[in-house]
Amino acid sequence: MKSFDVPIHYRSPIITAIKSYRKGLDKLKKDFAPSIIRLPNLEIVLARHFGFCYGVENAIEIAFKAIHDNVGKRIFLLSEMIHNPQVNADLIAEGLQFIMDTKGNQLISWDELHREDIVIVPAFGTTLEIEAILKEKGIEPALYNTTCPFVEKVWNRSEKIGNDGYTIVVHGKPNHEETRATFSHSKANTPTIVVKDMAQTERLAQYIVGTEDAEKFYEEFKGQYSAGFDVTKDLHRIGVVNQTTMLASDTQGIAEYLKQTIKTYYNLDEEGLKLQFADTRDTLCYATNDNQNAVTEMLQYEADIALVIGGYNSSNTSHLVDLCEEVLPTYFINNETCLIDAATIKHFVLSDKQEHITKDYTFGKSPLRVMITSGASCPDALVENVIRRLSELFDDPERLEEAMKQYQ
Ligand code: SF4
Repeated sequence: MKSFDVPIHYRSPIITAIKSYRKGLDKLKKDFAPSIIRLPNLEIVLARHFGFCYGVENAIEIAFKAIHDNVGKRIFLLSEMIHNPQVNADLIAEGLQFIMDTKGNQLISWDELHREDIVIVPAFGTTLEIEAILKEKGIEPALYNTTCPFVEKVWNRSEKIGNDGYTIVVHGKPNHEETRATFSHSKANTPTIVVKDMAQTERLAQYIVGTEDAEKFYEEFKGQYSAGFDVTKDLHRIGVVNQTTMLASDTQGIAEYLKQTIKTYYNLDEEGLKLQFADTRDTLCYATNDNQNAVTEMLQYEADIALVIGGYNSSNTSHLVDLCEEVLPTYFINNETCLIDAATIKHFVLSDKQEHITKDYTFGKSPLRVMITSGASCPDALVENVIRRLSELFDDPERLEEAMKQYQ
């Protein structure tokens, strides 16, 4: 896979050594077992795959190139380029300004933009409507477009099956930048609806089979369907795509549920089913799959706690948290400063979207066994910092260097 030029301070000697060592042994990426770092009083169980994905490295490289190439010009990002606070803070420190927040609220008016300005499109992509605004102002969005190729693949697939007459069902968070962008591109071509989870999918199925009053649909799915959507006609033939960072198993579950609904309701054989349900399995993002599968495999091992490192608004990271929370006490942290001391941790709780302070987070275990993974927008340097902090708190940093020799 292509390698990217990203600032060296995002890299980590420890993590690079482990990843290179594992890659050397497993070039085809078939082994999802975690890497183990064993100290006398601390054992790290590190997921096989985590950290910067292709799309994030690509976006960071383009953003820093934009800064390098345009000294003296005003440079804007449509919104957070990726959901990592350190990377976004670094870009702000370089003078970049965000035009919108992550929910699409305007921070800088379009009126303030001029044709000489540079506007970077984030890795999530953007809507056709925003592209049109920029072009009208004489700003070329394609100049520094960091839209991930795997997101574009979803758009291309949506366009193809849309052209074949299928309605697109997008599994995603309706307010997430990527889902808004995918929705925009898809609805330009074919009727489109967003479902956020299985509960909404089950409700949608009621409209497919006609057990729910069609009129209710428009209120129930308000803001999630394209203009002119006709619930009595537009759910006969569908294909499911996703926001690339959703849990792959959730998307597959949703697609399968809708497929079986259509198969049963229309009493279809396999050939008939193909005509009414488009196969879109190949749009799932490799990095999301790898990171989620690596966590699933890691969870087969024994540990006392799990630490998941990443931006608190990162969708893919929160899904890794969901997976870990099902199995063991899990703390979602930003960086090593969240490990306040050996007894106290500051961490984000997804259910109330607040930071909490928890005491006795390791339950007095010794030796302590910690599972670690991070999101696709988290620099490896942060993972190394967390490992170093753990070694300070629960063992001896010098013994960490010793333990790392197995990966050299
Ligand atoms: S998670 Fe996948 S789709 Fe999203 S930026 Fe990374 S590679 Fe692209």
